[in-house]
Amino acid sequence: MSHDELFDVVIIGGGPAGLTAGLYASRARLKCVLLEAKIPGGQLLVTEKIENYPGRTEQIEGQALAREMLDQARKFGLDVRSHERIKRLAVEGEEKLVETEKGVLRARTVIVATGSEPRRLKVPGEGKYLGRGVSYCAVCDGAFFEDLDVAVVGGGDAAVEEALYLAKIAAKVTIIHRRDELRATRYIQERAFATPNMEFLWNSVVESITGDDLVTDLTVKNVKTGEVSNLKVNAVFVYVGTDPNTDFLPPEIKLDPQGYILVDDKMETSVPGIFAAGDIRSKIVRQVATAVGDGCIAINAVEKYLLA
Ligand code: NAP
Repeated sequence: MSHDELFDVVIIGGGPAGLTAGLYASRARLKCVLLEAKIPGGQLLVTEKIENYPGRTEQIEGQALAREMLDQARKFGLDVRSHERIKRLAVEGEEKLVETEKGVLRARTVIVATGSEPRRLKVPGEGKYLGRGVSYCAVCDGAFFEDLDVAVVGGGDAAVEEALYLAKIAAKVTIIHRRDELRATRYIQERAFATPNMEFLWNSVVESITGDDLVTDLTVKNVKTGEVSNLKVNAVFVYVGTDPNTDFLPPEIKLDPQGYILVDDKMETSVPGIFAAGDIRSKIVRQVATAVGDGCIAINAVEKYLLA
């Protein structure tokens, strides 16, 4: 990796926000590169079906939509580099230095679109049984539990949508939720309540995950009554929200109390020339549609910044 190249923009993260920014950047013929820690697609890669992306009247698999976004961006010449995890982002005068395991890139502007990671339950057994019945991705691991009993923890869109997916594979899905009503969109709730092999444990939290080689049991506590019970399952899928990927950011970038990046209406952070887009930024709605919108706004702001 050459130290001499100066990019107009380095996009960090290849989810919908980053890919949209990359698509626009390539069409605008900016000197641009997109760096992705794993493979492009972001949360789309762990989402079974998308049915609320405007213009898509038929459901589309998350992975298929990711592939189309990547293909579209590449069609305009976007340089996408997978498996390039960012170690550090630093500001040096007018320039931004993006350090990966493979070297350092210099850029005039940066768009941070690194999204977020599944939040852990932080209960005994969660780490031990990771990959042996504990999962954060139904679309990746659900098939291992055909005709078996599984649990899903959480009450948001992700938990209930993925529970619906699992209900097509597993014998029974038990949603364990800490309150007595779901947070998920009504339409998704209606489908969940109409699913015969789906059960709900309300006002309940998982206290521990146990098993032999593989998960066999969950200890579940009712937070209203204090009653502790045992639930026999072969797997537990955890969907209790996400945490932002911000380890590499310089301290000058201001974050909200939850650790998400604060931006203005141009998606610019507290550091001039560094922008943030998608799930990584402080916002109230995290959807593919809003990530795409953020990426579009950010790259337009980058273009204006470069001309100023
Ligand atoms: P979320 O909306 O933040 O929901 C997290 C769920 O986990 C909530 O029900 C929460 O309970 C519960 N929870 C949080 N911490 C917990 C803990 N320590 N123990 C037990 N339960 C816990 O997260 P998400 O479902 O991952 O969704 C993230 C964002 O993506 C949201 O904006 C969502 O709308 C969006 N999304 C949209 C779609 C879609 O539109 N199709 C699909 C997936 C995700 P409380 O309800 O009590 O807070």
